[in-house]
Amino acid sequence: MSGRREPYRTQSFKPPPDPIPAYAPAGGGWEELPFFDDALRAMAKKAQEFVAREIAPLAATDETAVEDNAREYVLRLANGGWLKHAVRGEIRACALLRYHLARASALADAMFAMQGLGAIPILVGGTEAQKKAWLPKIEDGAIAAFALTEENAGSDPAGMQLKAAKVDDFFRLDGEKTFISNAGIAEVITVFARTAPGDRDAFTAFIVKGDSKRLKSRPIDVISPHPIGTLTFDSVDVKDSERLSGVGDGLRIAFATLDRFRPTVGAAACGMARRALEESVARTKARQQFGKPLAAFQGIQFMLADMATELSAAEMLVARAAWEADRGGNGLKVAAAMSKRFATDHAHAVIDRAVQIHGGLGVTRGSIVERLYRDVRALRIYEGTSEIQRLVISRELTK
Ligand SMILES: Cc1cc2nc3c(=O)[nH]c(=O)nc-3n(C[C@H](O)[C@H](O)[C@H](O)COP(=O)(O)OP(=O)(O)OC[C@H]3O[C@@H](n4cnc5c(N)ncnc54)[C@H](O)[C@@H]3O)c2cc1C
Repeated sequence: MSGRREPYRTQSFKPPPDPIPAYAPAGGGWEELPFFDDALRAMAKKAQEFVAREIAPLAATDETAVEDNAREYVLRLANGGWLKHAVRGEIRACALLRYHLARASALADAMFAMQGLGAIPILVGGTEAQKKAWLPKIEDGAIAAFALTEENAGSDPAGMQLKAAKVDDFFRLDGEKTFISNAGIAEVITVFARTAPGDRDAFTAFIVKGDSKRLKSRPIDVISPHPIGTLTFDSVDVKDSERLSGVGDGLRIAFATLDRFRPTVGAAACGMARRALEESVARTKARQQFGKPLAAFQGIQFMLADMATELSAAEMLVARAAWEADRGGNGLKVAAAMSKRFATDHAHAVIDRAVQIHGGLGVTRGSIVERLYRDVRALRIYEGTSEIQRLVISRELTK
């Protein structure tokens, strides 16, 4: 991919009216917290406008046009200039953007996230030449992927078996990666492979082109719209010049990327929970039972109060972790793990109550909260499960 593609706005597309409610939380928006500055607050406002104008109108077709919408979202994010935050690893900006994307479309949020997850290993471990060659392409919309997980190496990536054997001036990759977001549509993939058998530290990261010879993909069907699949490497040759950092640095790069990006997963969870709360408040005011609006019943009021409180606590943990990431503080590892664990688990609990508040409508296909209920689930699993986050936190406490 080279150069910026034509912005879709110059074509005939006319977005339908905005289906997303205005973002107006009682007591002020998330970006008012002191972890954000005025420039980020201004950015968050522009992000809301961008999402309402260019993302929300497409979200209704996410289920039926997963790959088309995935590509379209990356194009719109590139043309709007948003991907620079992902490729530069500006975590508070990424978090604010993911919050607003996830309020509208989990697919759009995932597509933004993958540009960051694909780019940050290059930012962390790449040479100046590699950064110059790849980061502008990812910023311009070359679809990116991050390939760590394998069939027998999920929570424990050190169990990976994808082999990278050195042959002259290249490495030959043999094996499989699975549950890889953007498998089949990615143009650039950061791949982690084993460079020596038996040694738990012998892993190396590579930049692999999506159209490499003998690289194949097959899709996996998951509960929420998300392009994902298995990648098969059948003697895929990668030049030594596409190796990231030294032989043996692979897991250091993978973990540094995950630590840095994890707060943004928490941010996406908060965005989904915020939407669920907004939908619930509106529904409880509009829906009458026993001659009164649902909002008049204390049982419902308590649910709304708990949802708002848990969301507010999650937003604070996420903002603090994102601030740690941007200032390069030593507290990042624990703050990132806490924010991801708490925000994703509580977003799930918030959205579950939103479904309850909506009654039968809450489980009706096509309703917003039904979609959110499916969308939020994977966030407690990918980039380290909630249990793995607890291990990270407790390991730091007791070391
Ligand atoms: C939608 C989605 C997108 C994804 N995208 C990507 C991607 O782009 N790139 C990529 O590399 N991977 C990706 N993944 C994979 C994801 O990172 C893994 O699924 C995750 O790390 C868990 O691994 P696993 O599925 O093998 O589960 P397992 O490791 O088999 O874990 C199963 C259960 O056991 C628990 N468990 C495991 N070990 C322990 C322990 N020591 N103590 C307590 N509990 C434990 C886990 O918490 C989990 O509940 C994605 C997954 C999903 C669902």
